Amino acid sequence: MAHVKVFDTTLRDGEQSPGVNLNKLEKLEIAKQLEKLGVDIMEAGFPASSQNEFESVQEIARTVKNSSVTGLARAKKSDIDTAWEALKDASEPRLHVFLATSPIHMTHKLKKTPDEVIETAVEMVEYARERFPQVEWSAEDACRSDKDFLVRIIEKVIEAGATVVNLPDTVGYTTPYEYGELFRYVKENVPNIDRVSLSCHCHDDLGMAVANSLAAIENGATQIEGTINGIGERAGNASIEEVAVALQIRNNFYEHSTNLVLNEIKRTSDLVSKFTGMVVPGNKAIVGKNAFAHESGIHQDGMMKNASTYEIITPEMVGIGASNMVLGKHSGRHAFEDKVKSLGYELSEEKLKEAFKAFKSLTDRKKDVTDEDLFTILTDVQTDSSDAAKYKLEAFQVQYSSANIPTATVAMTTPEYTRVETAGTGQGSVEAIYNTLEALIHEDIHLEDYRLSSVGEGRDALAEVHVRLTVNGTAASGRGAAQDVLEASANAFLNAVNRVILNQQLLNKQSAPV
Ligand SMILES: [Zn+2]
Repeated sequence: MAHVKVFDTTLRDGEQSPGVNLNKLEKLEIAKQLEKLGVDIMEAGFPASSQNEFESVQEIARTVKNSSVTGLARAKKSDIDTAWEALKDASEPRLHVFLATSPIHMTHKLKKTPDEVIETAVEMVEYARERFPQVEWSAEDACRSDKDFLVRIIEKVIEAGATVVNLPDTVGYTTPYEYGELFRYVKENVPNIDRVSLSCHCHDDLGMAVANSLAAIENGATQIEGTINGIGERAGNASIEEVAVALQIRNNFYEHSTNLVLNEIKRTSDLVSKFTGMVVPGNKAIVGKNAFAHESGIHQDGMMKNASTYEIITPEMVGIGASNMVLGKHSGRHAFEDKVKSLGYELSEEKLKEAFKAFKSLTDRKKDVTDEDLFTILTDVQTDSSDAAKYKLEAFQVQYSSANIPTATVAMTTPEYTRVETAGTGQGSVEAIYNTLEALIHEDIHLEDYRLSSVGEGRDALAEVHVRLTVNGTAASGRGAAQDVLEASANAFLNAVNRVILNQQLLNKQSAPV
């Protein structure tokens, strides 16, 4: 069986999803989980885009050992230099450099002739190879490029030292048949193509990203790029878990395998969904809540007689429904620590203490603490930059009755560590809290989106709120969990505000890396 490498770009292309902004700790957690999932390569970000991004990529490059870490660069020496600074400590530093090859991009965006584009691509790949052992070159908008021009430029970049050539369907325009043909054409006509990995990268604008990726594999692609849950710009990227499970379930047809540890899929999907605030639709293949639910009587009957009557994938294969042993009021520190370990978390002594405290306070109000609750508590503790100066909720009270105007009183500490307090009103309880918080924060804040969901089932389930807002024109998303919906709402609001404030502190503190 032939092997396909998995190149995950959740942290770069996925992070470009509208409204998504992950902080450094969240990116690091996702990177560690991607390593566990077994991705061959992970694109940690675009180091030249900001100081924050640079630091995230650097941290990931220094932490992850079993996957190759890469960063994106435009065809510019300064981008490549910055990427090298961020990636040089990785176990296998890799650069991903791109240049557009379609007439529409070359004429209107680059304002270069095809020959000038070849010259720049070659020069940049040669420059990158002076440092990086692995260099991937992408022909941006490959699917709307002239095939013979692609053949010419690919041969040249391979001569220049590229080790991977990627043919992205940047705008999500191609069809499985056409994309397969493109790979076959390149394989047949580029004389030195066997010296490199040939990669596919699909977007889902027409809902064909996964099908297109599989067509590329059938026609010679040896690397597939995509994201967890298929997140990404516009309609998103090819969903890695769908491609990997399709290759596994239909290996009699595709005859290709990946290195992915399939039963880490669910956890990876949950983590990405939680941090990005992008909810996985119930009917989504592989990881949707209903992907393994059987509703019709005939199906249920068949399932009870033999699961394979209507189930082609078992939930266990992708890590769903593994142990869900609950903890409760009487569970001690030892049981808690065992559970934390079995859920795959590695927490420092200090974070463990903090998590245990949160767990205990939850057991005061909730009888059974499930894996889902712990997942929420632990990931929140793990990604909380508790040492940073930020807004912190101290106490609040809301008065609501259907006859009066809702009023909130809020006390909190500011990033300057002073305690402030005020009261305000709103049309509803949440608005009253948000208006009051806004009055205390003195920044220009607009709420764009608010979503409330429950973690797990039951009346005493934790509430989780995701918000999207702009702070002085900068978009930020935030999340907060608590047993009470109002407290979760307040936490989510401050979480988003703090992201912007912390970013600004960083920007003021440091200058450009190189
Ligand atoms: Zn893309």
